[in-house]
Amino acid sequence: MDVILLGTGSPLPNPQRAGPATLVRAGGVNLLADCGRGVVMRLAAVGVGPAAISAVLLTHMHSDHITDLNDIITSHWVMNLGPTPLKVFGPIGAKALFEATLAMLAFDVKYRLDHHADLNAGPVVETTELSPGDAFVVGDCAVSAHRTDHSPVFPTLGYRVEHAGVIVALAGDTVPCAELDEMCRGADVYVQTVIRDDLVRRVPAQRLQDILDYHSTVEQAAQTAQRAGVRTLMLTHYVPHMASGQEEEWRAIARPYFDGEIVLGDDLTSVSRSAKA
Ligand SMILES: [Zn+2]
Ligand SMILES: [Zn+2]
Repeated sequence: MDVILLGTGSPLPNPQRAGPATLVRAGGVNLLADCGRGVVMRLAAVGVGPAAISAVLLTHMHSDHITDLNDIITSHWVMNLGPTPLKVFGPIGAKALFEATLAMLAFDVKYRLDHHADLNAGPVVETTELSPGDAFVVGDCAVSAHRTDHSPVFPTLGYRVEHAGVIVALAGDTVPCAELDEMCRGADVYVQTVIRDDLVRRVPAQRLQDILDYHSTVEQAAQTAQRAGVRTLMLTHYVPHMASGQEEEWRAIARPYFDGEIVLGDDLTSVSRSAKA
């Protein structure tokens, strides 16, 4: 199984970092968790075309996590020669989000249907709204949805994916909570979006101060990883943006709280884990 941080950025624009999106590749399955800014470009960088996405897993509907969903829908539709539906899983509200996104794309869909004789139907999206505890399979991957705490944003989900004995926990934006610990229990890889509260606190802007109460800090992510007994912690969604060369500074903040491997870096940073069964 490969876990690839496609985009490690945040809502703050940065020329080096795409928005939040993580790709899990296992047994011929491509699971895309969130669709932040530039996701289709980063997928291209790892040789995954939009038509090759097996399923999209949305953690929540904050703009930085869904802003390029429309690009995924359009590219998946136009670059797919067959009428294969795009499978999307997300929290309650995902269906309304898709209907609204398709409404936004209505002009483009009409132009293309009118122009291409071999295109006779618009994008087909199979959206499944999930509640915590729901489980499903995509190919050989078993996926379960878990409650996270990004309050007052509600509902939000994290995903636990298992393939051939390898487990990855994809947390999304959340503060530590019992359900998150449970989702991460014994995971080989735990991906957590984080902020540096020490740096954010120095910025004299209330709108930035507001984010402190609903994200995990680097320390908290490390503490969750330790409590849950995970092997590798992957940090992403760096707020503020981590400059190249600052990786050791961020890692040093997590280190006292977690004994395992800590992975962080530029977009496309990845880890590979071999099948255990
Ligand atoms: Zn969020
Ligand atoms: Zn976010």
